[in-house]
Amino acid sequence: MSARLLDGRPVAAALRASATHRVAALLARGGGPPKLAIVRFDTAGPSAIYAAGVSRAAARVGLEPVIVTPDADSDTRSLAGRIAALGADPAVAGILVTQPVPARFEASTLVNAIEPGKDVDGATAVSAGRLARGETALAPATALAVMELLRAFGISVAGRHAVVVGRSPVVGRPVAALLLAADATVTACHRATRDLAILTRQAEILVVAAGSPALITREMVSSASVVIDCGINALDGTVCGDVALEVQQVAAAVSPVPGGVGPITTMMLLRQTLDVAERLRSAE
Ligand code: ADP
Repeated sequence: MSARLLDGRPVAAALRASATHRVAALLARGGGPPKLAIVRFDTAGPSAIYAAGVSRAAARVGLEPVIVTPDADSDTRSLAGRIAALGADPAVAGILVTQPVPARFEASTLVNAIEPGKDVDGATAVSAGRLARGETALAPATALAVMELLRAFGISVAGRHAVVVGRSPVVGRPVAALLLAADATVTACHRATRDLAILTRQAEILVVAAGSPALITREMVSSASVVIDCGINALDGTVCGDVALEVQQVAAAVSPVPGGVGPITTMMLLRQTLDVAERLRSAE
């Protein structure tokens, strides 16, 4: 038997169309396009590549990306001041601090300088706290993309056993919180988990965000498992996930890498930016 492939690309395309429509509706009500501010630290490294990708996606739906680059002599205090000023600017709907933050800055100070109401990647302590308490919160985009993929393929979550492998603040932890908020029974696994396979085999929904290529093998899933792979690993010049390809021969459904969660992630960032923009416009 072979698993149903959970292709994220058509899901992302539909989300892009919806975002484009929402921007057009906002513009029709007057005013300029909502801005998405992206703080970026390098010009050719991972921060720049990510910033460029988000910026392109934002512009494509009609949002106005604003790249913020720290000056050579800026320090945590001055950059945090700039980030706070973006929070006070009514034209700015979303603020994103790309990773990795160079060692000369204190990353948590920068992130927490983001106005929580515009924290469209759910990075601040305020957003994380709300999410952990089960309150309505802006959430990290990858975690939301997992939930969106499940929703788009009609995979119900309530009452089901979800196993999450990985507890990073960017993916594993927020996914576990969102699944819990959606009434799943959640098991959180990590590096110190003993007998990972015993737990993963029990999963009806298995979400993997461990950053470890082919960590999940065919023996670790059952024919009832829906497997969502959040891994993005560079291996021998290609991109692969945390789930071995052979899992597709066993599981009920698998999200591929590339093409599963990835394409939806940026769309979640844009969706949250639009949620904020619409709220700001209706408060005017
Ligand atoms: P990501 O950005 O994908 O979330 P991180 O490197 O920040 O990745 O976090 C990796 C997470 O995966 C950690 O929480 C770690 O405990 C978990 N992890 C890594 N390797 C294993 C493993 N072999 N078994 C279980 N959990 C693992």
